[in-house]
Amino acid sequence: MAWFRKPKKPLKSGERRDLPGDLFEKCPGCGEILYREKISSNWNVCPGCGHHLRITPEIYIGLLTDEDTFSERDAELRSADPLEFVDLKPYPARLEAAEEVTGQGDAIITGEASLDGIPVCVAVMDFRFIGGSMGSVVGEKLARLGRRALETRRPLIVVCASGGARMMEGIYSLMQLAKTSAMLAQLHEARIPYISVLTDPTTGGVTASFGMLGDVNLGEPGALVGFAGPRVIEETIRQDLPDGFQRSEFLLEHGMLDRVVDRRELKSTLALLLRHMQDGCGPGE
Ligand SMILES: [Zn+2]
Repeated sequence: MAWFRKPKKPLKSGERRDLPGDLFEKCPGCGEILYREKISSNWNVCPGCGHHLRITPEIYIGLLTDEDTFSERDAELRSADPLEFVDLKPYPARLEAAEEVTGQGDAIITGEASLDGIPVCVAVMDFRFIGGSMGSVVGEKLARLGRRALETRRPLIVVCASGGARMMEGIYSLMQLAKTSAMLAQLHEARIPYISVLTDPTTGGVTASFGMLGDVNLGEPGALVGFAGPRVIEETIRQDLPDGFQRSEFLLEHGMLDRVVDRRELKSTLALLLRHMQDGCGPGE
């Protein structure tokens, strides 16, 4: 009775025809399976529930700046290994691996561009690069960008995404909090606007420094923004935390953010705020 028996033919290697892994993505907000191309054309915002999926710095630059106006600065800066730090692997190897994945030298891209015709200095962090952690290169690139903003009187915009200070650089990472804050104080004194955009997730040393120091602090919908993580806080104070704790909307309600802005309206909102703040005295007028 071998009528219905199929001959068993082993699969040869390389014969499997998988769908490309990046064709579909599950929305973490509503669980819907989304066609990648469709959400890409929507700046990675779920058309069903409005959940903001993470996007790369390159996409943010495309979203915020006028076409072909972005000119990157200090892309050549690389971290040293002052502590000769070894975790799972030596720090230089971690850096190399991160560079391979992201195509970037560190966790931030900085440069000059125009935004709706307004000349700006802009920086975008990359969470894929060792958790968007802030080491000496992130701090130095921001400090140099701030100096350019000061010299050219261009407003500064920073899109944050970070797990905090980079432990592999120890005290050198922590010094970047003071360094970036001092740079922002100079901008403040010179009355040059600085806007911080907090995206999912922004925590630790970045929240404790330039993340929250904007003349205006904007948050993307649903972004996790805080200093320590909810689990650490819960264990420390031994209390349950309220729903939506450390999300943009919660922070807005408690006065920590000025506005929660849909990514698709981010550029127009920034342009409106900058025009309002510069009011005839900035370079864009
Ligand atoms: Zn969704």
